Amino acid sequence: MIEVKNISKKFNNNVVLNGIDLNINKGDVVAIIGPSGTGKSTFLRCLNRLEKPENGSITIDDLNVDLAHSDKKSLVELRKKTSMVFQGFNLFSKKTALENVMEGLIVVKKMDKKKAEEIAREQLKNVGLLEWANHYPAHLSGGQQQRVAIARALAMEPELLLLDEPTSALDPELVGEVLDTIKKAANEGYTMLLVSHEMNFVKNVATRVIFLENGKIIEDGPPKEVFNHPKSDRVREFFAKINRMVEPEYSI
Ligand code: ADP
Ligand code: MG
Repeated sequence: MIEVKNISKKFNNNVVLNGIDLNINKGDVVAIIGPSGTGKSTFLRCLNRLEKPENGSITIDDLNVDLAHSDKKSLVELRKKTSMVFQGFNLFSKKTALENVMEGLIVVKKMDKKKAEEIAREQLKNVGLLEWANHYPAHLSGGQQQRVAIARALAMEPELLLLDEPTSALDPELVGEVLDTIKKAANEGYTMLLVSHEMNFVKNVATRVIFLENGKIIEDGPPKEVFNHPKSDRVREFFAKINRMVEPEYSI
């Protein structure tokens, strides 16, 4: 079990996360949904300490990290156990696909180059990009770049994979290949925390859905329950709005 306790984060006077607790079972795919600006990215970023919260801790296996006061050593340990996939891919532009996947293995896991390359090739093969190993990000499509980023994250064998809107920067025709890659990782048993607006994907792949608003989790349950019988009016409104965007009420 992964235990997240009492995460609080504000920017100046803007309280974004207001004491969030979350327990995640191993193998769960937890989708985080909620309106724009509600703190979904900030929450993920606090969990692997790209953002420093005022309060909060995370426990993964025997590692307990006080996120507000952690030392360098525990941050390195935290980053061995968590990896993040970003909306904008965040690959190193001057490194090839292969070198991008090798980087964390060498820098964080202190692996020797030969072993890192072996693992990186295996991971690129898993996302169907082995023949692109020596290409630079600029030569890859957005979908391919994101699959490299997923390979990079999985190469670390994270106990918790954080994905922040992994398909929202992609052209629509490239979304499917990235979602398929994420689904494959979910089926392999990776524990995930996924922010996504791809509601059909969330319905199909998530084992649990949480709704974040005003710094709190206001809904938490299996997808069927949250989508079909949300407890809060606010969540019902959110779905109604989204559905209006998908199916316009009028046509011309
Ligand atoms: P979401 O991912 O749900 O759209 P974010 O986590 O990006 O929301 O942002 C939550 C709130 O925190 C927003 O009001 C945003 O403006 C604010 N915020 C995020 N990052 C910063 C920052 N670095 N400095 C100041 N405000 C920030
Ligand atoms: Mg965001």
